[in-house]
Amino acid sequence: MTTATATQAFWLAGQQATGTDTLEVTSPWDGRHLATVSVPTHEQTEAAVAAAAAVAAEFAATPAHVRAAALDHVGARLAERAEEIARLISAENGKPIKWARTEVARCRSVFRWAADEARRFNGGTGQRLDADAGGEGRLALTRRIPYGPVLGIAPFNFPLNLCAHKVAPAIAAGAPIILKPAPATPLSGLLLGELLAETDLPAGAFSVLPVPNDAMPDLVRDERLPIISFTGSAPVGWSIRDSVPRKRVTLELGGNGAAIVLGDYSSDADLDWAAQRIATFSNYQGGQSCISVQRVVVDATLHDRLLPRLIEAVRNLVTGDPADDATDVGPLVSEDAARRVESWVDQARDAGATVLTGGTRDGASYAPTVLADVPADALVSHEEIFGPVMTVTTVENEEAAYAAANDSRYGLQAGLFTHDLRAAFRAHRALQVGGVIVGDVPSYRADQMPYGGVKDSGVGREGVRYAMEDYTYERVMVLTGI
Ligand code: NAD
Repeated sequence: MTTATATQAFWLAGQQATGTDTLEVTSPWDGRHLATVSVPTHEQTEAAVAAAAAVAAEFAATPAHVRAAALDHVGARLAERAEEIARLISAENGKPIKWARTEVARCRSVFRWAADEARRFNGGTGQRLDADAGGEGRLALTRRIPYGPVLGIAPFNFPLNLCAHKVAPAIAAGAPIILKPAPATPLSGLLLGELLAETDLPAGAFSVLPVPNDAMPDLVRDERLPIISFTGSAPVGWSIRDSVPRKRVTLELGGNGAAIVLGDYSSDADLDWAAQRIATFSNYQGGQSCISVQRVVVDATLHDRLLPRLIEAVRNLVTGDPADDATDVGPLVSEDAARRVESWVDQARDAGATVLTGGTRDGASYAPTVLADVPADALVSHEEIFGPVMTVTTVENEEAAYAAANDSRYGLQAGLFTHDLRAAFRAHRALQVGGVIVGDVPSYRADQMPYGGVKDSGVGREGVRYAMEDYTYERVMVLTGI
């Protein structure tokens, strides 16, 4: 197991540095101490920003092959050190080792995609201007130019890959990056810094700073950081955007994803698959994924056949020590988080909900839970629970299914179980989300596809190429007399 023992440095302009304060990182599973992490002082944070701003023009002009090679190097090192890094993620976040391994593999693809995109991005395209009178003899060329250094702010739930979603596209686009990992899980982001430090990236191209939350507003407002890419909770995200209306801000926020099972999805094999997928992806990071299944919307004709399967699949999940290969569901990130989930389930139960399975807490662990008859005004019906809890709602027809799924202030992704292609297209039109996953749960994400939400789930898109577009703008050059 890789756990640091001495005070761990952060990365300031590509170099290790230590400040005066520290933060402690502990295992959510057994509370053991994992690391003491040094926290940057105000002056050190200022130095990192100054270094990023100073190198911005040089970095934007770095040959694509140099940036691609650096990204390839990080990808290769992630592969070489995969098991050790997965153990680190599992230790600090509490997620089962098998899901931590998936996270490392995905992170590796993020760097691979970023290296590929770095090689082909910004080619420059021509546009003839003589298509309109007055444009005779003129040609327009465009080039994508980074706005400047990116401030990437990441949450705790995918402590490596959500950092990679900020870092890899920035490097691919030629923008310096200041990465701020989550306070509960800074070790994976710092490890990413270690891999970046092995490359030939210029000093100032990256910093990994575990800045305390109370110092973040100053960093957010710093005008030398024109781009903010934030993944985290809706209240924090929207307050950041409100505080800097003139900046370009991408927000990847919360969700309470719906899995819809339409009436045609009715064979035994169909229902077995749907139940298995829903049970797994309502609980796969202890439910701490923005696209985990929180709300199951099932056609009335299938309810009595789906529900027993769902309950059985949830009961079959192996809960326990995240370091065990067999574990499906580990603890939540903290006991406080588990207590909050408990209070929401208790509130729903007091208001008349039926707990079909689960509904109990043991320290930071909350049992995988299925709720029925949940009143619409219960928190678990309309807020993001971010725990291993699903609600089941029955609907009379397809239209009612989409209305139920849309009855949320969030809109990240939805899953649709159907074989009817026309229904899939209707759902794609009707559902107020950033993505519809047909034939599966909402929890599917590939790192090259456009990903993001509508409504309170955020603004802007990630996916390597989409983030690169967000970090850059097209600058046009008009050639005259040619
Ligand atoms: P959070 O909002 O508490 O924290 C996210 C990050 O913001 C952390 O690094 C935190 O230190 C930082 N932060 C806190 N206060 C800040 C401030 N005032 N200014 C700037 N930064 C500040 O979120 P969390 O609890 O770490 O993560 C869980 C949330 O993240 C959930 O809502 C989840 O849905 C969301 N999430 C969304 C996506 C997505 O892609 N849409 C992916 C993963 C998680």
